[in-house]
Amino acid sequence: MSLFDDHFASKNAASARAWAMDDEKKKKERSHEPAAPKMGICDKCHKEALVRSYRTRQTDVGNGAASFGTVIKHFCEECAPKSRRERDAEVPQLDKKQVRNLMRSAKKGLL
Ligand SMILES: [Zn+2]
Repeated sequence: MSLFDDHFASKNAASARAWAMDDEKKKKERSHEPAAPKMGICDKCHKEALVRSYRTRQTDVGNGAASFGTVIKHFCEECAPKSRRERDAEVPQLDKKQVRNLMRSAKKGLL
């Protein structure tokens, strides 16, 4: 039954290839995502927590020589450095017109 065997083998090989491609795709998709939190030790508070990895630029001056490098640090949610955008989002920036309107309505409320 070599015909059947060949057919079976090629079908198997095809599905194996499909699996491999699927795996490659998953790997690629994963690498595009921001680092997912995982259990680890926070580099700042040294507690075991869900940590995310952050790339930080580091300048070390040691032995009279400066070295520059990118270091991967793991921080828990509490110690995580906040991005500029997040910091700005916490304090809503009002433009001058909005501030004036706010002041006006506040005065109205007081009078
Ligand atoms: Zn921490």
